[in-house]
Amino acid sequence: MHPHDPTHGSHSLPVELYRPIARFVDEKNALCILCLASKTWYTEVMPSLYGSVSVSTGNYLDWCNTIIEKPFLGELVHSFSIIFLPKRKRDINYLVIRLALALRNLINLETLAISNGEGCEITTCQVLPAFVACSLDLRRFDCQIPWPYPSDIMTLFAFLERRPGITEFYCEPEHPDLYTPREVIVPVPLLANLTHLSCSVDLFTGLTVTPALESLQVDCGAGVEPQLLLSTLIRVQKTLRNLCLRRSTPSPFLFASEQILAGDVVRRIAEGVPMLHSLCVHDDSMRTYVRRSQLDDLVSSFAQFPQLEIISCSSYAHKSTVLIPPIDPFALSPIEVAGRFLGALPSVRTVTIPVWDRSQLCYARSGVSSSPVLGTTCEETCLGCRP
Ligand SMILES: [Zn+2]
Repeated sequence: MHPHDPTHGSHSLPVELYRPIARFVDEKNALCILCLASKTWYTEVMPSLYGSVSVSTGNYLDWCNTIIEKPFLGELVHSFSIIFLPKRKRDINYLVIRLALALRNLINLETLAISNGEGCEITTCQVLPAFVACSLDLRRFDCQIPWPYPSDIMTLFAFLERRPGITEFYCEPEHPDLYTPREVIVPVPLLANLTHLSCSVDLFTGLTVTPALESLQVDCGAGVEPQLLLSTLIRVQKTLRNLCLRRSTPSPFLFASEQILAGDVVRRIAEGVPMLHSLCVHDDSMRTYVRRSQLDDLVSSFAQFPQLEIISCSSYAHKSTVLIPPIDPFALSPIEVAGRFLGALPSVRTVTIPVWDRSQLCYARSGVSSSPVLGTTCEETCLGCRP
């Protein structure tokens, strides 16, 4: 590049190379600097700069104003995520109005993610109306905002009803012990085209139309819910390949003899959906597996899945609950535990198990040809396991 004339060097670059180069730059600040380099850079970098937008309610206003004033920039946005921070009610109303105006210009939006930041307790009926003007061609909707009351459910369903193209839907799994169980009936034809779903058990069992699900992550509470879940799983038997089941146990102090253990749940899952490729089980009852015979029983429960390649075992944790430390989970070394799984189950390639490492819960991941590696999350083995 010419040392004294910054525009001279950029003109010597073939124009078709600008966009691939811009795609390699993942830092927004660097993209902004590129935009200032020349007109060509500006034109070529804008799709990367605006393609995926993440804002919070603390800094959304400048972005909203830009999109309202320059609708052509809104056309570049394919993915939009916003985190709601604690606000006064009056501020929320203003935010909803500005946001609704900006969202109208995102005509090519495919992915929408909304979530509550720490300390923010809004529910869907307070904010979802801001998204009514959002593209009707959404493919993926990640709604990590609670919907505990009938008015929230109605708002959520009204939003989904107008967007039949959604194939991936992830919603806030209410902590089953915090709210009295909801009666959820998802009317026809809502969510009929889903391939990926993450939700609480009431939504999954409340689906009127059974979609051809490939991946499912479901949170379920204690008591009768697992039973209902297992009977509903049979409906997605033909298509489901990845399942993550987060099962809360009634009380950490309940004796093991009084609850259904993880091994029994896994056996029941195999009756419903035997053709899984990956299975992730979050279940605190695994803390009670301290004898070798108990571990062997758990391992054998996975033998009913002829195609199972990935197994992940984890404790049940929800962000609003304190994580209960597994008391020396499995009481064996991770190498021994993984060895038992991989030795007994020929189709399995990877096993992840919880390990209590000093004061932190970790996960040991082990493969057929690799020794265990410690990590802090189990996320790789299932769809969007949140630590
Ligand atoms: Zn999982």
